[in-house]
Amino acid sequence: MGKPTGFLEQERELPKKRDPKKRINDYNEVEAVIDESITLKQASRCMDCGVPFCHHGCPLGNIIPEFNDAVYQSNWQLAYEILISTNNFPEFTGRICPAPCEASCVLGINKPAVAIEYIEKSIIEKAFQDGYAKPRIPTARTNKKIAIVGSGPAGLAAAAQLNYAGHFVTVFERADEIGGLLRYGIPDFKLDKQVLDRRINLMMEEGVKFQTNVNVGETVSIEQLKEDFDSIVLCGGSTVPRDLPISGRNLKGVHFAMDFLTQQNRRVGGKKVNVEEIWATGKNVLVIGGGDTGSDCVGTSNRHGAKSVTQMEIMPKPPKDRTETMPWPSWPMILRTSTSHEEGCERQWSIVTKEFIGDEQGNLKALKIAEVEMKKAVPGKASGFSEIAGTEKTIPCELALLAMGFMYPQHNGLLDRLGVDYDERGNVKATRYQTSIESIFTAGDMRRGQSLVVWAISEGREAARAVDEYLMGQSILESKEKGILSLS
Ligand SMILES: Cc1cc2nc3c(=O)[nH]c(=O)nc-3n(C[C@H](O)[C@H](O)[C@H](O)COP(=O)(O)OP(=O)(O)OC[C@H]3O[C@@H](n4cnc5c(N)ncnc54)[C@H](O)[C@@H]3O)c2cc1C
Ligand code: SF4
Repeated sequence: MGKPTGFLEQERELPKKRDPKKRINDYNEVEAVIDESITLKQASRCMDCGVPFCHHGCPLGNIIPEFNDAVYQSNWQLAYEILISTNNFPEFTGRICPAPCEASCVLGINKPAVAIEYIEKSIIEKAFQDGYAKPRIPTARTNKKIAIVGSGPAGLAAAAQLNYAGHFVTVFERADEIGGLLRYGIPDFKLDKQVLDRRINLMMEEGVKFQTNVNVGETVSIEQLKEDFDSIVLCGGSTVPRDLPISGRNLKGVHFAMDFLTQQNRRVGGKKVNVEEIWATGKNVLVIGGGDTGSDCVGTSNRHGAKSVTQMEIMPKPPKDRTETMPWPSWPMILRTSTSHEEGCERQWSIVTKEFIGDEQGNLKALKIAEVEMKKAVPGKASGFSEIAGTEKTIPCELALLAMGFMYPQHNGLLDRLGVDYDERGNVKATRYQTSIESIFTAGDMRRGQSLVVWAISEGREAARAVDEYLMGQSILESKEKGILSLS
């Protein structure tokens, strides 16, 4: 433990974010660059608890007290070694992880938690800046070949780990760029794509091969892959969005959130938008759904110059603080305000959308909504909602964005053709990441359903270990319970 009294002396502090009024004029990252002096003070707040709950709160099992201590001692390179022993991509999680570790930090019981996510970002950014975030090239090759389908964080983590284990890895991606939702879902103001490119370049130097514009099951057959590779890891994500099949759904101006977000990321990346363009400029925008995707639509709409932005959610407004049903160290379902919300947005809860209303040309012009309350739970039945009489109203809206989550991976095409089993939610079923077909594994949102980047990385790592064991009888890749992969 660096400084036993650090948590008594220092308050939680983060570098100031860019001014909301200025930052909505561009797509640069909202978070300010790192400030080393702040990071050192923040690391000194870690109490090096006997039982580090933060370590269990992190889906990757990041060894948090140890890297905090190394930072406090100004041993940044050691902090980097500790961090990358459990996390392949701290530059992603250090920017966009909701930080369940901080929710379970012991200091968080009666004071603001240690700024773990910010410390993580500082460690990796300094490692790149000072040049010791170098390619880790395996010293021996096994001559086993592995195909990864999908290049989101799960596919990338599986590829990096399997390459470290000495296998030849090729990642196939149907989009024109690598990265999955990191590339074409999460906006640049949360994750600059240069950060993604920096990592992909490093992985290429390490020996991972990438092929874009390859839709496995269409452009290239799965039979071909089975013939050419010793094992396949399916990391295709959860891509079927939840729809809102109410009257007026087909009006011009009602779109899935991902169609809106993907094309903006393409514009920022200097790419052509080859489909009908969706703009929020000058419009009353309604974002339906209260999660990350909805929040990203809010931030993007403000950058387009929307007339007004409203986000609606059917669930009731969450409490500001923990209640007795969500005690420390569990993840609390409390009200969260994202950087996009800070930039301007009206938020409404307990609202049901009843009808999209159009003009004579078929353009969306309004939305009929009503307030709802949750029905009392009946044992064994989902509780559901009931409309509150007399609350129905119509509000102007020229652009509605459906951000109500994703149901499961796309079945038609690759998965149905393969004939893999699905679980009861429609995700690819697996036992220790192995699907119902022996040589085929799966990880990330395709297996666990819509989730988080940190979970996708964790799944990619664990699936890599399972593949390594399948091919080699044992694995040099340690699972998160045991800790780290040692590479010279
Ligand atoms: C708008 C949005 C914002 C989000 N924000 C956050 C956030 O702030 N923090 C956070 O932690 N999580 C966030 N998430 C969730 C997070 O992005 C996902 O959980 C994560 O990306 C899942 O990773 P994955 O690798 O499993 O799948 P994905 O990232 O979905 O990648 C799957 C890839 O597989 C490719 N693919 C699919 N089928 C094929 C095929 N047949 N052949 C070739 N390629 C194929 C797809 O094109 C895609 O590129 C967000 C999600 C969305 C939609
Ligand atoms: S990956 Fe997320 S949960 Fe894990 S230490 Fe980093 S911020 Fe915390």
